[in-house]
Order: sequence, then C-alpha cells, then structure tokens
Amino acid sequence: MPLNQEIADHSVMSTYNRLPITLLSGKGSYVWDEHTHYFLDYTSGIATCNLGHVPERVKEKVEEQVNKLWHCSNLYHIPTQEKLASKLTELSCTDQAFFCNSGAEANESAIKLARRYSQKCKEQNPGEIVTFSQSFHGRTLATLTATGQEKIQDGFAPLPGGFRYLPYNDFEALNEIHQEHTSAVMLELIQGEGGIIPANPEWIQQLANICHDKGILLMVDEVQTGIGRTGTLFAYEQFGIEPDVITLAKGLGSGFPIGAVLAKEYVANAFVPGSHASTFGGNPLATTAALATIETIQEQEVLKQCNENSTYLKQQLEDLKAQFPEVIYDIRGEGFLLGIETSQQAIDIVHKAREHNVLILTAGQHVVRILPPLTTDKSEIDVFINVMRTIFKTLD
Ligand SMILES: *Cc1c(COP(=O)(O)O)cnc(C)c1O
Repeated sequence: MPLNQEIADHSVMSTYNRLPITLLSGKGSYVWDEHTHYFLDYTSGIATCNLGHVPERVKEKVEEQVNKLWHCSNLYHIPTQEKLASKLTELSCTDQAFFCNSGAEANESAIKLARRYSQKCKEQNPGEIVTFSQSFHGRTLATLTATGQEKIQDGFAPLPGGFRYLPYNDFEALNEIHQEHTSAVMLELIQGEGGIIPANPEWIQQLANICHDKGILLMVDEVQTGIGRTGTLFAYEQFGIEPDVITLAKGLGSGFPIGAVLAKEYVANAFVPGSHASTFGGNPLATTAALATIETIQEQEVLKQCNENSTYLKQQLEDLKAQFPEVIYDIRGEGFLLGIETSQQAIDIVHKAREHNVLILTAGQHVVRILPPLTTDKSEIDVFINVMRTIFKTLD
C-alpha cells in the first residue's frame, strides 16, 4: 500500500477515472480491498478473469512455469506457444496464430496482416479497412483510427489513413462495401464499449456473404466477446459465419497479459519471417496461462454452466425491467456480456452498486455493463439481483 495516496496519485498519469477502491486479493467471483471488505466482482477485470479470480488450474500451471522459464524470445521454439496455437486453431475456423500482448496489439497486427495480404498475396492496392460506428478496437494510432468513436480520436491527429466507417446493423450501408477499394471489414459481433449492441444475425450473414463473394477479408474483433464470454468459445459460432481473421486478448490469459491473431492459412501466409514481431508475444508464462485457461473451459463444463446461469440472470433482469419500466429500457447481450439500458446515468448506478459491495461497469452513458465470471453461480446472481432491485427501487 502506498503510504501517501496523494503522492502516489501524482506519479501515475491521469488517464483513468479511478474509483476510490484498492483491491489486494481475489478468489472466484469476489475481490477484497485493504480493509478486507469484499466485493462481488461482476466486471471480471473487464471481461478478463473469465474463470474468476486466481483460478486453481491456471494458478498451478503458472506456478510450475515460474520455476522453469519466464521468457526466452521468439528466436527459439516455445512449446506452450505451439500447443496454444494448435488448440486455438483446432477450436476455431482458422489455421495459424500470432501472439502479442494486448487487444490493441492484436488488432494492430490484424490490420497489418490485411494490408500485407492485399499487397503481397493479391497484388492489389492495400485498400481501405471498413469498420463501424460505436466500435472499439483499441488505443494505438491505427486501432483508435479503426475505432468509430470521435471521443477516442480526439487530440491525436494526424491519424493514419485507410479506414472507412459505416453504420452498424445498417443493411443499406452494405452496398458501400466495394471490391476495388475495400481490403477488409473489421467488426465486433457484440459491440462492447459501444453499449452492448449485438449484431443483427441477418445483417452479419449478408455482410459475410458480401465479403466472401468479393474476396474481402472478414475480421472479427473478439477481444471482449472471445474465450467463452458470450456462452460459446468464440462469439462468431453463434452467427453461422466463418471469419478469415479473429483477434483475441482480454479473457485469453485469465488476467495474464496476452493477445492473439488467428487467421486462415491463405491470409496468414502474407506474414513471412521479418514482417511482424513482438518481443514478449507468446512467451512461456503468458502462453502457459492461456493454455490452462482454454483447457479449463474445455474440461470443466464452464460454458454449459455459463449458459444455464446466463438464462437465469437474463430472466431476473427481464423481471426487473417489468418491475421498473420507467428506468430500465432494455436488456441486451449474450452469455455473460450483458447490458441494461437505463434512463439514468449508468455511472450513478455503478457508484450505488459499489456502496452495496457489487462491482459493475458502464458501456456508454446509459448502459450498465455486467460481466460476471463465467463460473458465477445462482446464489451470487441472487445477491446481485437483490442489490440491483434495491438500487432501481430508489430511482423509480
Ligand atoms: C478492450 C478491447 C480492445 C483493446 O484491448 P486492450 O487490451 O485494452 O488493448 C479492443 N477491442 C475490443 C472489442 C475490446 O473490448
């Protein structure tokens, strides 16, 4: 604990609005602060600790690896990286993986891959990458440009070129996707930061068909939706589409920093030795954490449990909506990526929930974002719903 909070605050750049909480430990769905107060964590560290805090198997595997080798660089073979790559590609519609350290870096890598694929494999102009309004793809210069939100780009000009924005879920806008100047389309299947906005299944189907027919790459940003968050290992499985490129990060390492780009072989072939790299990318510790995370999800019926409990939670939220129709407008999302659209300022509800020892998030001004660990159970959901009922009662 910093002895002088004021000095500590001054030495960290103020890029975050921090809540007055200091968390020191966690287990499962709960976290503890320095006064040993505990909170029900329905943020999962922003869709990251999908198996809850300090999951046993991941902890054991990381502990074993800590005693062997932390880092060795990609100049050498890394067995856990190779195992993780085969697992992720076997479990998805892709063939090869590249590892990095964050969601932004995964998307940045996907953007580079798409451009290089156009130029080196198809011998075309790099063309534009189409992204969508209210999207979120990261904070590097290229990914914040890909992000269809002005507030994320504010003050960072000059921005790199090569991106074009279309309205999300808009059928007419699909006519704007032309072969001559579009190399790829990048999108989230449920927009997370933008307000928990699921893609219209029919719209996605049409978009995927256009990409397929015109040889335009379909790249899905599963940084938030991936690794079981929406009830399937990848969200794209629920839409009956086959993306060419998938990006992952948040839930992949159970909180250990790791990102990944998965691609079909013909796209992945655009990268050759020297075209792209990352010093830490796919190092032994990070890939051990990710491998143990995926194995746990596969072996422990995590997704089955998540889907059952998500149905239960959604039903409870629908009941709340019926009880407070003036303040709750909509319940959205899949699995444990859920949003409550409200007439209120979402941040006020986040503050009130904290006073009742429950941590939740916002997704824009009027959407409360709920991201329980996939492993949460009905009794924890009941605790959460009771707190929400108490809060909405005071607002009604
Ligand atoms: C969080 C997020 C990112 C950025 O990930 P970082 O690890 O913060 O760089 C990109 N895309 C989506 C959809 C996200 O939710």
